[in-house]
Amino acid sequence: MRKKLFSRGKKAFSALLLSSILPLGAGAEEAFEMKYEVSLDTVGHYIDVDLRYIRPAAAGAEGDTVRLCMPVWAPGYYLILDYPKNMVDFRAEDPQGRPLVWEKEGKSTWRILPAGADTLCIRYRVFALERSVAESRVACGSAFLAPGGVFLYPEGKKDHPVEVTFVLPGNWQSVSTGLAPAGAGSAPAQGNRRTFTAPDFDVLYDSPVLMGNQEIVRFRHEGKDYELAMESPDGWEETSLVDDLKRMMSAATDLMGHVPYDRYCYLLLCAGGGGLEHLNSQASYTQGNFRFPDRAEYLRFLSFVTHEYFHLYNVKAIRPIELGPFDYAREVFTPMLWVSEGFTVYYESQLLRRAGLVSGDYVLSELSSFIRTVESREGHRHMSLRQSSYDIWLNFFNRNPNGAETRISYYDKGPILGLLMDIAIRHASGGAKSLDDVMRLLYRRYYQEAGRGFTEEEFWSVCREVAGRPLSLMRRYVETTDEIDYDRCLVPAGLWLDRSTWTLRRLPEADGEALKMRRQLLGD
Ligand SMILES: [Zn+2]
Repeated sequence: MRKKLFSRGKKAFSALLLSSILPLGAGAEEAFEMKYEVSLDTVGHYIDVDLRYIRPAAAGAEGDTVRLCMPVWAPGYYLILDYPKNMVDFRAEDPQGRPLVWEKEGKSTWRILPAGADTLCIRYRVFALERSVAESRVACGSAFLAPGGVFLYPEGKKDHPVEVTFVLPGNWQSVSTGLAPAGAGSAPAQGNRRTFTAPDFDVLYDSPVLMGNQEIVRFRHEGKDYELAMESPDGWEETSLVDDLKRMMSAATDLMGHVPYDRYCYLLLCAGGGGLEHLNSQASYTQGNFRFPDRAEYLRFLSFVTHEYFHLYNVKAIRPIELGPFDYAREVFTPMLWVSEGFTVYYESQLLRRAGLVSGDYVLSELSSFIRTVESREGHRHMSLRQSSYDIWLNFFNRNPNGAETRISYYDKGPILGLLMDIAIRHASGGAKSLDDVMRLLYRRYYQEAGRGFTEEEFWSVCREVAGRPLSLMRRYVETTDEIDYDRCLVPAGLWLDRSTWTLRRLPEADGEALKMRRQLLGD
């Protein structure tokens, strides 16, 4: 469910005018405003944050206390990052510059006593020198902002609109983000200032920002607007990246039957590792240029970008019920990341194949590599797929040397279950249905109609509904460490597993039904 964007006129400071614009249910009688201004210290690597906060009318004994909070993690990145550790020089003042009393409450909350002031002026600095998709980085030529670690939200009011103005240093030209530019009255681009709005803090935190002189390619495709922002663009013109992204996105639209945004922004960052999905954007590190040594390397990059793109369906829209609205103050546990991540990995090669960019052999080779990783390590006898999801908060960067012997990753076993469930559903329904139908039904029923995530039982119930019978064996492979009977699972698709090299191969003698399913899965 997409919330309506909030945009405010230039002089909407009066309580009367503001209250007439605020959405219902968001404290319509309250004067309330949060406006951020962000500037950068590119030498010291700091983000300077200036917040003007017109607080709601005081109410009761607690009315004269304001609590501002900073998230400790970022959705999609299942690790406690403790963003507040980067904050220094916190100050709270009234509009006349008189200091207000404040103190910390726990690690991520600032409790302020406004002493009767309706407007609070909050200033702080955020140190930013991490090359991570979930953390901020300010350097002399560009800056990447992971918003969860930059902006404070007022406790109990993160569903309120917020406005952010970025002040660009010196000769910097551009701000790339999925955020919406402020309305016409607010002059979104003025000199070196760029203003954006978010309808609530969930959207703000889900909209990373790249600033600097990045190369920007804008294009339109099937009625939607796209921005490709490249921090290290060297060589991109010699690739077929834009055309290939268009083909990949068309394949995703064909699969899902709907596009949940008007504009999508690819933030392709400098040399680094990792990518993170967002509401209508993605932040993905690159190899530092677009000069790929061979087609395999290019496809690896394209597959990686495809993964983050498909997440806008699978995890942003089709999501386990625990994943939103988020509690940013602590871990959010779910046993279903094998669907959100594993199926997204499964659809990487499926989308590229359906887009005509790779062959069926590529699909088999990718899936074989996951089987090899899982089956050749002892960990699959100690941890179920379901458990690997639930315990990710302990294991995201757990480098204990016994990892391979005791754990598995849902990035490896998840796509295997994607394949096996796809085959099982196709087989059970006589070729009438597939995993695609599960994705579409989850999308329609829970995201579009109910506006929420699904429970674990609802997920299996949708699978049963699509397949026409329960997928009990699949559920056992998800919830236990029982060995997978590959021969039994693969035969209906005319495939077999060569255990000497853990490689998926085509069965030479497949019957008509199996050949048909194999054609659907591999395109051959
Ligand atoms: Zn992912």
